[in-house]
Amino acid sequence: MVQTDICIIGAGPAGATAALQLAYMGIPCVVVDKAVFPRDKVCGDGLSGKVLTLLSRIDPGIAERLQQYVFKEDSWGVTFIAANRMSINIPYKPGYEKLPGEPRGFVCKRIHFDNFLVEELRRCPQVQLIEGKSITKYDLRPDGYLLTDASGSLQIRTKLVIAANGAHSGFTKDVAGIRMEPKHYVAGIRAYYSGIKGLHADNLIELHFLKNVLPGYFWIFPLPNGEANVGVGMLSKVARRRKINLKQLLLDAVQSDPVLRERFRDATLRGNIDGYGLPLGSKKRRLSGERYMLVGDAAFLIDPFTGEGIGNAMYSARMAAQQAAACIAANDFSAATMLAYDANIARVLGPELTMSTRLQKLIRFPWLLNMLMRLGARNKELQELMTCMFHEVDLRKKLAKPQFYLRLLLGRGLRP
Ligand SMILES: Cc1cc2nc3c(=O)[nH]c(=O)nc-3n(C[C@H](O)[C@H](O)[C@H](O)COP(=O)(O)OP(=O)(O)OC[C@H]3O[C@@H](n4cnc5c(N)ncnc54)[C@H](O)[C@@H]3O)c2cc1C
Repeated sequence: MVQTDICIIGAGPAGATAALQLAYMGIPCVVVDKAVFPRDKVCGDGLSGKVLTLLSRIDPGIAERLQQYVFKEDSWGVTFIAANRMSINIPYKPGYEKLPGEPRGFVCKRIHFDNFLVEELRRCPQVQLIEGKSITKYDLRPDGYLLTDASGSLQIRTKLVIAANGAHSGFTKDVAGIRMEPKHYVAGIRAYYSGIKGLHADNLIELHFLKNVLPGYFWIFPLPNGEANVGVGMLSKVARRRKINLKQLLLDAVQSDPVLRERFRDATLRGNIDGYGLPLGSKKRRLSGERYMLVGDAAFLIDPFTGEGIGNAMYSARMAAQQAAACIAANDFSAATMLAYDANIARVLGPELTMSTRLQKLIRFPWLLNMLMRLGARNKELQELMTCMFHEVDLRKKLAKPQFYLRLLLGRGLRP
């Protein structure tokens, strides 16, 4: 029997971040994960600037150690490729060529990135990490939760639960009552290849909006040592309706698409092609209740347009840790008090999720992306605007409005 004020279920990016933030505030916690680290997690392995920003807010030392981590590849931006095969390169930061040493994002296999975070946890005396135990029972009692693992050999008494156990969280389903809805969920698969030709010299990640994958995309994310993460993500509702086998879709794309076939001619598939779900933040949900908060994928917070979930998982986890500190200080774990966490999520992540939901709906129309690429290829102003989209939610708002495309077609200025 383990006794604690705060138990975090899951030590992925969300769980580890919550524990690191608590440790930084001097608050002890127990973190329990069903896996033993290092462990893999099916993912595109793309990490946006949000990750470093968030870690440096917790402790600049952690961000610095991640900057020096050898298992990652720095990436300077994104190449968008429309169905008509026209493409534009959009750097994360305007003029990045002039600022070497300041990457805005990177690609790192999850077996390495998640282990980096867990190693950080191991440095914290306030964190008790329990590995290899799957929590399957959650009993709410007057003084807190009694959590039990699948074998019955571990019991944890805790005043508060932070559920960070990912896309298939039993806690989310059984306690919070949130279920998978195919229109708010993406099915994704990823493979590792080596020897793909034509990767960008600055490791721009590639999003290919192939016609038969919309609304979703095929991606190539460059990794260290000439490897790349290659995958496909597609709205589950559409994949089910069209009875699509994603593995076959990926293999068909690299074998039959005229451009990709050439680039993959000498490439080698390394290991298996694996799949996992992406719970999207395209619907507002209640993420807390009496004595609990949901974070990361367990809270359905993945960006519906980009598929980015790690950054949002870490942002939500830090907010949950701060809320947990307030609950402990006030000795108040009521559902009403926990609403402050929901309000914070809505304030910080809400506007971005709303805009991305609109953009996700727009990319269903291949002609729209084709047009954007055609105009973007020769319109510097549009390229700059898309660069700023990465940091400015207000600009995403603009991209989600029909008037924007009308102005574009009429050749009018894009900024007010
Ligand atoms: C194909 C694919 C591609 C993706 N590409 C990207 C990308 O490029 N960039 C990006 O930002 N995001 C991407 N995502 C999303 C990203 O993987 C998730 O958003 C991210 O992993 C969420 O982190 P998390 O900590 O909430 O959950 P997870 O990373 O899933 O961690 C959950 C942890 O909980 C543990 N656990 C589960 N159940 C239990 C239990 N009962 N008891 C104890 N422990 C438990 C697991 O072992 C795991 O360690 C992708 C997802 C998929 C499927």
